[in-house]
Amino acid sequence: MTGRFANIIVDISHEKVDRFFQYRIPEALMGHLDVGMAVMIPFGMGNKQIKGYVMEITDRAEYDEHKLKAVDSIVKDGITAQSDSIKLAWWIRENYGSTMIAALKTVLPVKKKLKQVVRRTIVCKVDAKTAAAKADEFAKKHQSAKARLMQELASQSVLPHTLVTGKCNVTNKTIQALEKAGLIEVQAEDTYRKVLPENIADLEGWKKKRLSDHQNAIVDSIMQDFKSGVRGTYLVHGVTGSGKTEVYMELIEQVINEGRQAIMLIPEIALTYQTLVRFYRRFGERVSVMNSRLSAGERSDQYERAAQGDIDIMIGPRSALFTPFERLGLVIIDEEHESSYKSESMPKYHAREVAGELCRMKNASLLLGSATPSIESYFRAKKGEIKLFTLNERLAGGQLPSVYVEDLRSELKSGNRSIFSRRLYGLIKDRLEKGEQTILFINRRGYAGFVSCRACGHVMKCPHCDVSLSEHTERYRNVSRLICHYCGYMIPGVTNCPQCGSKYILGFRAGTQQIEELLHKEFPAARVLRMDADTTRSKDSYEQILSQFACGEADILVGTQMIVKGHDFAKVTLVGILAADMSLHAGDYRAGERTFQLLTQAAGRAGRSALPGEVVIQTYQPAHYAVVHAANQDYEHFYAEEIAYRELMMYPPVAHMMAVLVLADDERAGAVQAGTLAEQVKQQFGDQGFVIIGPTEACIGKIKDIYRYIFYIKHREYQMLTTVRDTLEQTIQKMQWSADSVQFDFDPMMNY
Ligand code: ADP
Ligand code: ZN
Ligand code: ZN
Repeated sequence: MTGRFANIIVDISHEKVDRFFQYRIPEALMGHLDVGMAVMIPFGMGNKQIKGYVMEITDRAEYDEHKLKAVDSIVKDGITAQSDSIKLAWWIRENYGSTMIAALKTVLPVKKKLKQVVRRTIVCKVDAKTAAAKADEFAKKHQSAKARLMQELASQSVLPHTLVTGKCNVTNKTIQALEKAGLIEVQAEDTYRKVLPENIADLEGWKKKRLSDHQNAIVDSIMQDFKSGVRGTYLVHGVTGSGKTEVYMELIEQVINEGRQAIMLIPEIALTYQTLVRFYRRFGERVSVMNSRLSAGERSDQYERAAQGDIDIMIGPRSALFTPFERLGLVIIDEEHESSYKSESMPKYHAREVAGELCRMKNASLLLGSATPSIESYFRAKKGEIKLFTLNERLAGGQLPSVYVEDLRSELKSGNRSIFSRRLYGLIKDRLEKGEQTILFINRRGYAGFVSCRACGHVMKCPHCDVSLSEHTERYRNVSRLICHYCGYMIPGVTNCPQCGSKYILGFRAGTQQIEELLHKEFPAARVLRMDADTTRSKDSYEQILSQFACGEADILVGTQMIVKGHDFAKVTLVGILAADMSLHAGDYRAGERTFQLLTQAAGRAGRSALPGEVVIQTYQPAHYAVVHAANQDYEHFYAEEIAYRELMMYPPVAHMMAVLVLADDERAGAVQAGTLAEQVKQQFGDQGFVIIGPTEACIGKIKDIYRYIFYIKHREYQMLTTVRDTLEQTIQKMQWSADSVQFDFDPMMNY
């Protein structure tokens, strides 16, 4: 690219430097610089050398040409961002708010090109007959290592170096001696690091299936669009086991046949070994995978292979979306409702939305799949923006389980104060006697200490936001208060139920550990495994626990939402959900949706094989629509009620919501900052259809000594919210607050 000046984004995450800096391109680099390249530049008063990315090359000087500093050098082994990646970074910056450098780093998941590994092989320089003769000769001389190697080479003329020194136990010295004698040669070759399991090629199973009529109809419809130049967004709504993955693979194959490439996103927790084997069986070395376990070198190689066109398919979690495919034709997002597709750090982008933009840029199609589609996607399907397909039957057999909803209020009434309802207790006992397995599930995610009445089920809610209030206890004075985490509404803690007067109104607390202990007490002979954040800290413990359970080494698996995904357990015939209310009252507008998803998925764990399954859902609110419709596996009716609630309360996707999170070292300063920003929005935009909620202390008021304040802004138009954000960013800059002190989150999926 020619031009005398380079506009550069510097690699410092700070609002004040979130703009172009112009540099002169020195003679020596003229013609060598390209947009997207990483360069070293002198920066600031001290001319410190820092890294930057070239965003533009131009002949127009923005300032006095003679005052411009010169680019120093091109970063060795730097990754060059493709121009599409830069466009995408701009889009992310515009839509979610962050510095450009943070957005750029998001779309460049690999920062540095690392050297490929050298693979050494030992090549026989003589023919097989001579090699065998030499082997005999060495054997006679009792040079057994030399004999061994020559014998091997007589039957196979090329051997991996690692095999020779490893399994064949031949030392480097021996190898050198044979090389000197002209019998062998050691060859070295740069290769990409392999990331698929070593023995994957030997594994059996997963033959290509003949698609059912329903599956074919989906593939045909999407490919017909594709071939006639139409690129759409599609949603496959189908229960687990209904053949979605088979549809994905067929589509990928056809898109590849059209000369294009594909990315398949899958939540990391669901990205099992089985899935990889399945794709490898079908696509061989053309497929690769990205996940958090890869080393930097492995990542760098996969990135490079994709950029070189060495592979056609990338499978991985959120960040795999940024695989640098030149000819991207299809993006698939499996389990599209999963909250892990949303980034929790700045920029807080949603992979589904970024994928939409990426597909527009690359002229690719986007396919979403889920057993419980997100309300967002279903909403768009109803509006006709997404083409909806449904798969209803389980193809590998197995019936849907029978579901019982157990009312914990009536358990209390009849004097049962245990965590287990009488039915669940009886069924666990029955399974232990029959030698079948049980999964007990408790959801602690988003648990914010809601308060409910154990006698009548009444839940303390915010009158303004229609979400559950959370209990806060002041440690020193032992005073309890109930607080809304959206608007800050606050009342003193209650001692009696306002509905029925019962004194059994309290915050719900029970954890996996307590359940494990209780199981030991009630069923001393039962073998129990526990899976939660505590027991899965080490690298492979997650897989380990699951495979232990799959092998039948335990009767009962107790766990958090982690166990809902992944493996199929043929012998699990009972699933117990101990307190559906935990997720029901998480204190945010997605609580109902999350509960429905969790219950549906948990229920889907039972009865995966010939043995029929039973599911027990324990709750204080058996009539809640999320519980009722999950028990019936009835998505349509759930959606209808959920969207009515969102409409009524103006929550996404009907409207949009922006969370503004203020972080401060000082408690008062944080409160003032949040107050200033919220007040500005009220003054400047108050009468234009905005709803402003808060500011208030965040749900978690302090993390690592950083105080957190939050407010929310709702509006029907997303664009209006980005306008507000731009204004707030200007204020932050004007006030000289650090850019890191304010975070924006559009249509948040988490509780702050
Ligand atoms: P999902 O992705 O919806 O969970 P899968 O594609 O994994 O579903 O299919 C579930 C099971 O059904 C797998 O064992 C798969 O091999 C099998 N299967 C899928 N499609 C067919 C088909 N057309 N004929 C026979 N078996 C199929
Ligand atoms: Zn009550
Ligand atoms: Zn409120």
